[in-house]
Amino acid sequence: MAHRILSKRAKVRALLARTGLTAVRWHTLGRGLYCFNYHRIGDPEACAFDRGVYSCSTAHFREHVAMLKERFEVVNLARLLEEGGRPPRKPLALITFDDGYADNYEVAFPTLRELGVTAAFFIPTAFIGGSQLPWWDEIAWSLRNATIERIRLEDAEGDFDLGAEGIERSIEAVLERVKLRTRIPMDEQVREIRARCRPAGSMRDAGARLFMDREQLREMRRAGMDIGSHTHSHRILSHLNGDTQREELEQSKTILEGLLDEPITSVAYPVGRSSSYTPETCQIAESLGYRVGFNFICQSNRLPLSKPFDIFRFGIHRDIDSHELKSHTCFQWI
Ligand SMILES: [Zn+2]
Repeated sequence: MAHRILSKRAKVRALLARTGLTAVRWHTLGRGLYCFNYHRIGDPEACAFDRGVYSCSTAHFREHVAMLKERFEVVNLARLLEEGGRPPRKPLALITFDDGYADNYEVAFPTLRELGVTAAFFIPTAFIGGSQLPWWDEIAWSLRNATIERIRLEDAEGDFDLGAEGIERSIEAVLERVKLRTRIPMDEQVREIRARCRPAGSMRDAGARLFMDREQLREMRRAGMDIGSHTHSHRILSHLNGDTQREELEQSKTILEGLLDEPITSVAYPVGRSSSYTPETCQIAESLGYRVGFNFICQSNRLPLSKPFDIFRFGIHRDIDSHELKSHTCFQWI
């Protein structure tokens, strides 16, 4: 899932996007690896679940890909793994998607094919075909369909307004709040919020086509897209003991290998902050046969990769246009 807060840094980058500095820097980028990570693509207004997970509109996604294709050699995972010590002629770009939402297949995949580039899709295998919904979507759905007007959470100041005026702000605030309540298991928090909201309708029906299914994943792979693991159930790995981390990484790998009939060699750590995985996570991943691991920290990577289980990625949020994406890439240290 995505970060929600538009930081002061992002505002400065948005400002820089309008200056000539970005254009100069864009043409003198170092020849490293630049990974760009998306979640959902499309119009969040139509979404009954968590609208904060949208990276950008379909039009902006197309603009981004066209721009990246012009400036970088857009690579697939095989090309990245074979790159080894050989310095590339152009900076390399890898486009990635986390969480496996159906719009990745319906919107991003046709755009990528049309523009002739590939991307890597990291899938939490428990979500394939919508058999299980993630906590952020379930909570957002419960709040959006609540039959009560306000909700109060333990430890939070004041109530959250669930009326038409305040619902979007409340969903964002409640999701931030539950992430901070680490002493209460997430399953329990989801159940508690749902019970208190007494939502109308069936979430299961609404979420039936929220995630890609097995055949869609197979079709994308046949068309040259990469499929990687995003663990099985998207739990934060650093919160789990070694055995459970191993289960999450192994189960996901086994399911995807059964589905695609080939080795799965890449993983993206859920949430992907430096606090979301540990050196032990990377060791376990390597021992299971993964060859690369991706985080969600905004930096470029030097080549050859010195830490293949700590590959940085730029997160795309808040429907940024291609100018803002340029400054996001150019001024990563701001
Ligand atoms: Zn994720």
